Amino acid sequence: MRLCVEIRAQLNNVTDLTAEGADFRWYIKVRCGNCMEESKWLYAVAEDRVPVKGGRGTVHLVIKCKLCARENTVEILEDHIKPYRAVDSGVFKAIVAFNCRGVEISAFDPRGGFRVRGESSVFNDVSLSDKEWYDYDDIASQEVSITDFEYRVVKL
Ligand SMILES: [Zn+2]
Repeated sequence: MRLCVEIRAQLNNVTDLTAEGADFRWYIKVRCGNCMEESKWLYAVAEDRVPVKGGRGTVHLVIKCKLCARENTVEILEDHIKPYRAVDSGVFKAIVAFNCRGVEISAFDPRGGFRVRGESSVFNDVSLSDKEWYDYDDIASQEVSITDFEYRVVKL
């Protein structure tokens, strides 16, 4: 099953929000499709792949369900990693997609690693775990913020 994480937020004096780099950690929880057990927080990283048993290629996470012991997998669909831009402000927009086998994504935590561009300054390693973020663009002499952050998981 291919699932997207869509986000919605208000960008104030911010041009875009980007999951920066191939080492960005996508923090997720997954729910087992067999027994419905939810995992702990896990993270997938685009540059880190692991082989699937039986020579069926590679994925980003192999997750053994704690309850039923089934092995499920999650693969980041890297072509679907997109910035969230000022024009998207207030509208749900996909920033990443995953190919999930045996699991669904039940939670997403944007806990760090975002790059935020203001009109004149760049802010690195931004977290949106608090659903909002505030800073000051010294060069443009104005406050920058991201507020009302929400996410949802939808089928691709
Ligand atoms: Zn299970």
